[in-house]
Amino acid sequence: MLKTIQKKIAAGVPLDRQEALWLLTEADFLEIGKLADGIRRQKHPEGRVTFVVDRNVNYTNVCESQCRFCAFYRQADAADAYLLDYETIHGKIAELVAFGGTQLLMQGGLHPRLKIEWFEELFAQIRERFPAVQIHSLSPAEVIHIARLSEISMAECLRRLQKAGLASVPGGGAEVLVDAVRKEISPNKIGWRDWAAVMEEAHALGMRTTATMMFGSRESPEDIVEHLYRVREIQGRSGGFTAFIPWTFQPTNTELGGETASGVEYLRVLALSRIVLDNVDNIQASWVTQGARMAQVALFFGANDLGGTMLEENVVAAAGCAFSLSQEEVVEIACGAGFIPARRNTLYEILEEY
Ligand code: SF4
Repeated sequence: MLKTIQKKIAAGVPLDRQEALWLLTEADFLEIGKLADGIRRQKHPEGRVTFVVDRNVNYTNVCESQCRFCAFYRQADAADAYLLDYETIHGKIAELVAFGGTQLLMQGGLHPRLKIEWFEELFAQIRERFPAVQIHSLSPAEVIHIARLSEISMAECLRRLQKAGLASVPGGGAEVLVDAVRKEISPNKIGWRDWAAVMEEAHALGMRTTATMMFGSRESPEDIVEHLYRVREIQGRSGGFTAFIPWTFQPTNTELGGETASGVEYLRVLALSRIVLDNVDNIQASWVTQGARMAQVALFFGANDLGGTMLEENVVAAAGCAFSLSQEEVVEIACGAGFIPARRNTLYEILEEY
């Protein structure tokens, strides 16, 4: 099987699901790494490893979805439930700008009262006050929730948000794009087809998005493979994904509980992502869940990007995973592994090399 796969990759022929499953479950660990590294070298021969200076602003932790894997959400009447006001959000963005940041990743829970007007006004104000910051915000589940609350279609919701200033959409909330898994880990959340529909609509409107996968909870290896092919198929139709970001479920403080995936499992899935998603340019290493050293190893298992420096991160931190890195440390990860660190914007345009 390995020889067939090597030949197909060398000839640029896509693998089928069975071959991908074999790589994930049976191939030698270093072999799969070598294949992914070869593709990474081909796609990024300049040897750059990129990152973006960004900030996560979690505007509310009140969420109706109550996903079983999530340690971040609160019921509306909880003592520590919050909703940030515009002024507080502006203050956080001003700090981001002072750090030379270019990307605002605003995500929250599915709040029972925040309709589209709240976001339109906020985005319009941000665009006016902080024109250098790209509003890269709201996951597909939030877009659909806002549309429902506002009694408008998802497409109209996205169009209005875009007009107000939303420039691109993060692919969060994908978890695993297989409904049987979603029913178990996030029964109240949108199904995979809705996630895909938001992404395709955003792409049709000219917005670029990312795609993610959270694995290591209740999915099977077949589900992981299916997820990757679903992302690949969407990309084949729209070409709108800038990057793919696999990350591991963090069980602490969650209803689901259990263990987190091992580093080896993480690297295997990362490498498989690089191999299957031959039509997605960038694969991101998740230092937030893996830490700096593992992120460095990930650069030899297919990753070419270290994501955001994240001036603030609350969601994964709520699940007891609190890696944090300064821009200098992110540069050091790339340098230490023999790459050229480069700061990029949301669209992966290079702003500065180090
Ligand atoms: S993962 Fe998102 S949608 Fe699910 S409960 Fe947490 S905040 Fe809500």
